[in-house]
Amino acid sequence: MPQMITRKPLEGERPWQQELAKAVTDPAVLLTMLEIDQTAFADGFAARKQFPMRVPQPFIDRMVKGDPNDPLLRQVLPLSDELITSNGYVSDPLGEHDTQAPGLMHKYQSRVLLILRGGCAVNCRYCFRRHFPYGDNSPSKQEWQQSFDYIAAHPEINEVLLSGGDPLMANDQQLDWLLTQLEQIPHLRRVRIHTRLPVVIPSRITDALVSRLASSRLKALMVLHINHANEIDNALQRAAQKLKQAGIWLLNQSVLLQQVNDSADALCELSERLFEADIQPYYLHLMDKVAQAEHFDLPLARVQALNKAMMQRLPGFLVPKFVREIAGQQSKTPIDLGFNPFIEQTDLDFFQQS
Ligand code: SF4
Repeated sequence: MPQMITRKPLEGERPWQQELAKAVTDPAVLLTMLEIDQTAFADGFAARKQFPMRVPQPFIDRMVKGDPNDPLLRQVLPLSDELITSNGYVSDPLGEHDTQAPGLMHKYQSRVLLILRGGCAVNCRYCFRRHFPYGDNSPSKQEWQQSFDYIAAHPEINEVLLSGGDPLMANDQQLDWLLTQLEQIPHLRRVRIHTRLPVVIPSRITDALVSRLASSRLKALMVLHINHANEIDNALQRAAQKLKQAGIWLLNQSVLLQQVNDSADALCELSERLFEADIQPYYLHLMDKVAQAEHFDLPLARVQALNKAMMQRLPGFLVPKFVREIAGQQSKTPIDLGFNPFIEQTDLDFFQQS
């Protein structure tokens, strides 16, 4: 019998922790649940030895049964494509494996990133940190002091990003402790939480978490990671409402992924659904060139065409910034559009006629 769940839920655990414990880790089990024939996928099951599979039930519930091309399934199912080694795709595409203190990265002038947790609720096959040495960056409470001292000694830092893994894998008490430490550093103004956990397990947005963020002297933002409109269900919308009503600003960043969201229809619908859920489209990232994930990448010309299509079909506030991250750069790099958005053919036609 294949292993079906990560572990048995423990007594006293919160609903989100129980969902986490029950996450499906076996691709054969996942495909059976979705009534999909395993034969065509069996060669890829070995890829989970390099990067385990992990998918919580609330995310599985949003997949379409019987559809092997479901865009949510494609993000989490190990495929034989991952066993291919490609030139130019590396284990550390962003040059992050050297940190300034255990779990601390100071990549951009006014922002510092803390790796709060190594694990995630879902393992996305395209993850740019799938090879990150989390074991070397899992500080104890005492070691965290080095990070707080670093931030305190750098007055140019005004914002702390909590990242991972997924920072919301930490429980509410641990987050409360961390926030309390950060609130004591006078030059900090904001705390930003980058997370996918509430997307795959919406019950992670507990009342205790919402009220702690709302009561912080640091302005709190949450950047969700949603790649496809089908990821937004009623439970996620309710969680987003709770945060919004408490004054937590909600943004979304997506990754552009082949056979997941690489069409103008999919991207425009994602923006529309985000807006209905009170989540602002923020960034659309070109995939970082991480080893074992080349099959998700797209040629630049296709990216430019998608950007143009979104600008034509949506109001500006629903078009995320198309960016890539380049190791060593002081900010994200906007992609070259390949066209002048201010001189469109329709405008030229108009000027020629008048
Ligand atoms: S949630 Fe984010 S950090 Fe975790 S596996 Fe997915 S992409 Fe990577």
